[in-house]
Amino acid sequence: MKNKVLIVGGGLSGVVLAYHLVQRGINITLIDDQNNQSSVVAAGMINPLVFRRMTKSWRVDEFIPYCEEFYASIEKQAQNQFFHPIIIRRFFSSIQERKSWELKQYLPDFITYMHPLTTEDLSFNDNETVNEFGSGRVKKSSWIDTTVFMEGIRSVLSKSATIQNEIFNYENYNPQFLSYKNEAYSEVIFCEGYRSLHNPIFSYLPIQPTKGELLEVHFPDLDTTESYNRKCFVLPIGQKQFKIGATYKWHNTDPEPETDAVEDLSNKIKYITNKEYTITKLIGGIRPTTLDRRPIVGEHPKLKGNYFFNGLGAKGYMIAPLLAKEFCEHLIDKIPLNNEIDIHRFDKLLSLTS
Ligand SMILES: Cc1cc2nc3c(=O)[nH]c(=O)nc-3n(C[C@H](O)[C@H](O)[C@H](O)COP(=O)(O)OP(=O)(O)OC[C@H]3O[C@@H](n4cnc5c(N)ncnc54)[C@H](O)[C@@H]3O)c2cc1C
Repeated sequence: MKNKVLIVGGGLSGVVLAYHLVQRGINITLIDDQNNQSSVVAAGMINPLVFRRMTKSWRVDEFIPYCEEFYASIEKQAQNQFFHPIIIRRFFSSIQERKSWELKQYLPDFITYMHPLTTEDLSFNDNETVNEFGSGRVKKSSWIDTTVFMEGIRSVLSKSATIQNEIFNYENYNPQFLSYKNEAYSEVIFCEGYRSLHNPIFSYLPIQPTKGELLEVHFPDLDTTESYNRKCFVLPIGQKQFKIGATYKWHNTDPEPETDAVEDLSNKIKYITNKEYTITKLIGGIRPTTLDRRPIVGEHPKLKGNYFFNGLGAKGYMIAPLLAKEFCEHLIDKIPLNNEIDIHRFDKLLSLTS
C-alpha cells in the first residue's frame, strides 16, 4: 500500500475506516455528500444476541471487546459522550423461548451475555409492561448516540484527514489510473452504503437496500433505564423520550419514512407496554444489507487499487470498528481477509455481468 488514499462515503463505514488508516499513518481524503441516512438515523444498538434463534450474534466475542475499546477512545478524543451501556430486557414471545434461554444461560458460551433468570425477571414489572412469558436480561449490550458519534469522529478526523463535503461524480473518475478530478491516488475505497448500487464498477455486488424506520416517542409514565424488546425495541434516550424500531422493508431505496410505519410500530409496542405515549418524530434510512448477511470487503477482481468496504447491514455499529481494523491490516500488512467477508466470493457475478 502506498500513501495517498481516497475514501468515497463518510457514513459509519467510511469514517471508521478513515480513522484506522490515519492511525497507521496513511494520508486520507474523504469525500462525502453528507447524506448519511443510515448511519445517523440508526438507533445505534449493540445487542450480542439474536433472539429469534436465541443464538449469539456472528463473531460477537471478537466484535464487542474491540468496539467498546474503540468507542471509548473516540469519546476521549472528541471529548463527548455517546456510548451508553444499557440492559436489554427481552420479553419472551413463548414458553419455548424462555426454555431456550434457561437451557443456555449457564453455558460458557452464553453466560457472558445472559443474566441467569430470577423470579423477578419472570414476573417483571406487571404494572408497566406486558410480560406474558417472563423476561431475560442481556449483558454487554449498549447503544451509541449516532448523531453525537458521527459529529465527534468527523471532528477528530478533520485534524488529520482532508474531508470534502461534496458528491463524488463517477464521470470525473478514472478507475484504471485511480485518478479523480486530475488528482491521482494510490488506492480508492468505496464506502457508499446502499448507493453502491449506482457505482459503475461495483454495481455487480449484491448489496440489497433495506429500508428502516424509527419512531421517537414521549412516554410520560414509563419509568425505565432498560431497553425493552419484543417484536420491536423501546430504547430510553433520556427525558422520557424513547426510540422505537425498527421496520424492515426490502428493496426500497426511498429513505423518506412512510406513514404505514407508524401503524406497524404502534401495533408492536402493544406487545411491550400499554402505557400512553405521543409520537414526536418518524425517521427513515436505508441499510446496506447482503443476501448472506455478511459484509463485503476487498479489492475489485479486475481493477486493481479499487476497494469496497460495505454491507454492514443491521449491526453496523457493532461490527464496523473491528472490520475496519482487519481491513487496514489486510491493506498495509497483507494479512488475508476473513473468507466470510471477502469480496472474491462474488467474482462469478462479475463475469456474468461483463
Ligand atoms: C432505521 C435504522 C435503524 C438502524 N439501527 C441500527 C442499530 O440499532 N444498530 C446498528 O448497529 N445498526 C443499525 N442500523 C444499520 C446501520 O445504520 C448501518 O449498518 C450503517 O450505518 C451503514 O453505514 P454505511 O457507512 O455503510 O452507510 P451509510 O450510512 O448509508 O453511509 C454512506 C455514506 O456515503 C455517502 N455517499 C454515497 N455515495 C456517495 C457519492 N457518490 N458521493 C459522495 N458521498 C456518497 C452518503 O452520503 C453517506 O454519507 C440501522 C439502520 C436503519 C436504517
